[in-house]
Amino acid sequence: MSRISQLPPSVVTKIAAGEVIERPASVVKEMLENSVDAGATRIDIEVEQGGIDRILIADNGCGVHHDDLSLVFSSHATSKLRNADDLFNIETLGFRGEAMASIGGVAQVTVQSRQHDQTSGSELTCRGGTLTPIKAWNGSPGTRIEVKHLFFNVPVRRKFLRKAPTEMGHIAETFVRVALSQPNLHMTLRHNGKLIHEVPATADLQQRIGIFLGEELRDTLYPVQANYNDVVLSGFVADPSVERGNAKMQYLFLNGRWIRDRSIGHAVQEAYRGLLMTGRYPVWFLFLEMPPDLVDVNVHPTKCEVRFRDGQMLYGMTLSTIRKRLSEENLTPKLQPPTSTMEQPTPSSSFPTKVTLPPPPSPTGPTNYSSFPTSSAANGAAPKAPPANSEPVVPKPTVPATEHAPPLEFVVPQPPAPPVETEPPVSSPVTADEPANSIPPSAADLASAFQNAASEDRPETQTYTQSNFSPEQPDFKAIQLYNAYLVLETPEGMLVIDQHALHERILFEQLKTRMRDQTLETQQLLIPEPVDFPPDQAALALDHSDDLKELGLHVEDFGNGTLALHSYPALLGNKAPEKTLRAVVEHLATQDRVPTREQLLNDLLSLMACHSAVRAGDPLNQEQIAALVAKRDLVDDTHHCPHGRPTSLLFTRRDLDRQFGRV
Ligand code: ADP
Ligand code: MG
Repeated sequence: MSRISQLPPSVVTKIAAGEVIERPASVVKEMLENSVDAGATRIDIEVEQGGIDRILIADNGCGVHHDDLSLVFSSHATSKLRNADDLFNIETLGFRGEAMASIGGVAQVTVQSRQHDQTSGSELTCRGGTLTPIKAWNGSPGTRIEVKHLFFNVPVRRKFLRKAPTEMGHIAETFVRVALSQPNLHMTLRHNGKLIHEVPATADLQQRIGIFLGEELRDTLYPVQANYNDVVLSGFVADPSVERGNAKMQYLFLNGRWIRDRSIGHAVQEAYRGLLMTGRYPVWFLFLEMPPDLVDVNVHPTKCEVRFRDGQMLYGMTLSTIRKRLSEENLTPKLQPPTSTMEQPTPSSSFPTKVTLPPPPSPTGPTNYSSFPTSSAANGAAPKAPPANSEPVVPKPTVPATEHAPPLEFVVPQPPAPPVETEPPVSSPVTADEPANSIPPSAADLASAFQNAASEDRPETQTYTQSNFSPEQPDFKAIQLYNAYLVLETPEGMLVIDQHALHERILFEQLKTRMRDQTLETQQLLIPEPVDFPPDQAALALDHSDDLKELGLHVEDFGNGTLALHSYPALLGNKAPEKTLRAVVEHLATQDRVPTREQLLNDLLSLMACHSAVRAGDPLNQEQIAALVAKRDLVDDTHHCPHGRPTSLLFTRRDLDRQFGRV
């Protein structure tokens, strides 16, 4: 064993830097926080090559005194904390005195600063921890800090950096967080000389949200406001109709600091319970203000996680405030599936059927969802079976809600009765109870998609269309159960099909084959559709634009986090292409490491398939059932969905006979 020795300061700094400075965006975050702490009202940021080459931040804050300048780069040197007691009363964003030392240790940094009452300022450079002598500097009051060649002396770290647009995306996200938390600041952001954002000082937070995340989203926001003892909760929650596939559009600020907090996140999710499908996330911007002694911000190196003194109270306060706010809105109409773009299925009166009608549903049968908590049943226009890909729907135990939340009066508005259209309810016990027009677009897409696909894929087989669908075909009996499963009589036995899983598999195979054969047809949009993203996601999508194009999704930069969508895969029918793009980009954003190209394409194909497939909970008419089942034989692996779940289960005739003691 080697002997113990004290590490040299340069190594110590690099280790410390590893905790605080992970990428260019971390530098921007720390420096922006310093400018805010310095009382700046204007901050200008210039970035080159995603911040890997250069970051310059200029503010008009209080500046650093000439005599203190060299201390800026010393570890544990700060102007914000004097003694240990102060640690529990922190009113500034910074307090550890570590960030500038860390940045100076792993980059080439020049600080120029002048206090407002000084006639001239001074300048100091720190190169990988080594200081140059202080010089005079004649700039305007405030501080300018330039960081060049980040990680020039830590090649391993440099290697871990992503391409410039991705790093720039992270910087832009950091910028958004600070800009949302400090609406009074005038801020600008430039990348490679191009102005990315200019946000004027404003008292109107909603306007600022609109600048970054689009006017469309801004107009769906409901303000919230609550006080409890010394705690104030305020901000905005978005209408459930703008839900997302991940939690990235959820912003929480504590005393002006952006933070992450799982418990608050959970409380908000609970408040939306019943208004969103499983696995979907609401969009929200919440601000907590409380006396600093009610929270410990010193629990995480980058201070983005904190410990609340009374987390339970905050949980309850958040849940009840948002629930109450949402219940004030009549949200139901927006939850109904859009019917305008939907292809109407042929009326089933013209449908020659062999489908066997099951006996009427028993009131206590498993399709009776009325015993679910009100909020769970409010998923849509009609009581629904579990959403796609979910575990069986059982009322989730509302443990955190009932444990922490104060008792609530929360009534989800009942949906108005939808107009009845052509489809008589004949197919299954569940659909018999459902309003006739509740066939969602995906189900309608199914039939049309299959017609196209069947005729293109297998010219040698008899083409299935609604018109040539004769009583001789199909030679199976099928019923739909729980709007989720198809039960089929086959020569081998009783086959139970998961409608979503099977459709997903079929779409996946079709997409894959066509992509491989380069016959994936794309649907060009006459007018490219602008789709808003958080800046980091937009950058990521552009980073992968070639891969996306191969998938039929052609996107171009529209500026300010907006992508212009030019085309989408025709196979996905009339599903909103914007939603598919969003799901694909969100998937990209949740990848921890860069996947191989093959893996990525595979993932995205499966995601698009999943997104476009008919869902559990979608009632299907007989034609749609027939189309789905007929298509089953046309793909290679229909036994498993792209996620590996089985698409069907077979109970053989022999098994059934045996179980019933017949043989
Ligand atoms: P902390 O913010 O935790 O105090 P930092 O390492 O980030 O530690 O900064 C060290 C010190 O440098 C700060 O306490 C502050 O006095 C000074 N400083 C850094 N940036 C600025 C700035 N933009 N304006 C004024 N002072 C600054
Ligand atoms: Mg700081």
